[in-house]
Amino acid sequence: MNIQTLLTPFARKPSKELLSKDRSTVRVGIPKVLNIWNTHQFWIGFLEGIGIKYTNIVFSSNTSEEQSREFGKGRGTVDCCYPVKAMSGHYGELIFGQKKKINVLLSPLIYSMPSSLQGHVVANNTCTRVMAGAENIKSGYMKEKDVFVENQIKYASPYCTLDDRIIVPQQLFDGLKDIFDLTYEETKKAVEIGFNALDTFNKKMQKQSMDILEQCAKTNKPCVLVIARPYHMDTGIGHEIETDLQAHGYPIVWMQYFPTDPTLMNWLFEEDIKEKQIKSPFDISDVWPSSYSSNTNEILWAAKIAARFPWITCVIRLSSYECGMDQPTFTPTQKIVENSGTLFFKFGDLDSTKPSGSVRIRVETIVHYVKKNSASIIEKKLARMKTQWPPVKAEALV
Ligand code: SF4
Repeated sequence: MNIQTLLTPFARKPSKELLSKDRSTVRVGIPKVLNIWNTHQFWIGFLEGIGIKYTNIVFSSNTSEEQSREFGKGRGTVDCCYPVKAMSGHYGELIFGQKKKINVLLSPLIYSMPSSLQGHVVANNTCTRVMAGAENIKSGYMKEKDVFVENQIKYASPYCTLDDRIIVPQQLFDGLKDIFDLTYEETKKAVEIGFNALDTFNKKMQKQSMDILEQCAKTNKPCVLVIARPYHMDTGIGHEIETDLQAHGYPIVWMQYFPTDPTLMNWLFEEDIKEKQIKSPFDISDVWPSSYSSNTNEILWAAKIAARFPWITCVIRLSSYECGMDQPTFTPTQKIVENSGTLFFKFGDLDSTKPSGSVRIRVETIVHYVKKNSASIIEKKLARMKTQWPPVKAEALV
C-alpha cells in the first residue's frame, strides 16, 4: 500500500477575515497543476481574503488517465511535455465534472516564483511552458465555441510575478477586478493574507522536514531526498515513486521543503563560504551561473544539499517526458551528488502511465543499495564535516 509523503498540501483552516462585498456564494475552481503545487496556499489565502468561502474553493483532482480521457479528450493543444498536456483534463473536470457548478475558473499565469534562493540567484522565473500553459490549454476550450461562456464560467488568468511581492496587488487587481468586482485596497489586503498563508505553510513543512533530518541524525539512519519539480508531488505526474521507497522504511524529504534554518545552512556551507567559493548557503553560482529559472535553481541547490548532508544517502531524481528545462541539469546534478559518494537514481521521461513493473524492480534495487551502503556513506560524509551538527551534539551531551 502506498503511503503519502505529503499529507497536507492542499488543506488549510478557513480564515475569519471580514469581507467588504458578499462573495460568499461564488465558487472558484483552480486546476491543480504545475506551480499551483507550491503556491496553493497563496491562492487559498488570497481568495479567502476577498471573501470567497473556503468550501467554495475547488481544486481539480490529481492527474490521472481517467481524468484526461473523461474530461480532456479532444481538447488537447500542441505541447509535448506531459505536465502541460495533462492540464486539459483538469480544466475539463472543473468545467464539466462538478456536482455544484463553479462560477470562476482561476488559472494564473505565474511568471516568477517565491524562492529561498531569492537575492542569491539571477532570477526566479518559471519555465515558459508553465507560464504560458494556462493560455495554451484555454485555447483548446475555445477553438470551436467558447466553452466557458456556454457553461457560464468566467475564465480568469491573472499575470503575476510572485517573487516580487510589492507589485502583486496591482497585478492581481488588474487581472481580477472585473471578475470579482474588486477594489484595489481589498486586493492588496488579500495578497498580504495569501503570502502570510504561503509563508506559514512553508515553515510548517520545513519544520516537518527538520524533524525527519534530526531524527535521522540522532539515530544515525539514512533518509532519501527527492529532487524534482513541484508538480511531481502530483500522484499522476510523479507516480508516487518516493512513497514506494518510504514503504521500505526510508524517510523521504522533498527538496521544496528542505529547512533553511541558519544553523543548519551554516553547518553545511561554512567551509565553502570560508574558501570564498560562494557568498552564502543559497548561492549556487559555483555550479549554475545562469540561474534564471526558479525550479531549476532549486534543483541545483538541492543537489548541493544532498552532497553535504551526511544522512541523505540517496537522491531520487524525477523528470517528466520531454522536459526541456531538465535536460541541461541532468549531468551537473548527478555529478554533484555522486562526487560526494551519495547514491543517485534518476526516473526520467515520466509520462501518463506508471510503469509499475519496472518501478518496482528499480525501487527494490535502490532499497538494496541504500541498505548496503548507507552506513559507510554517512561515515564518509560525516568525516568531511569539521564540526558536529548542533542537534546531534546536544543529544550526545544529555
Ligand atoms: S519544466 Fe519541463 S516538464 Fe515542466 S512544464 Fe517546463 S518543459 Fe514541461
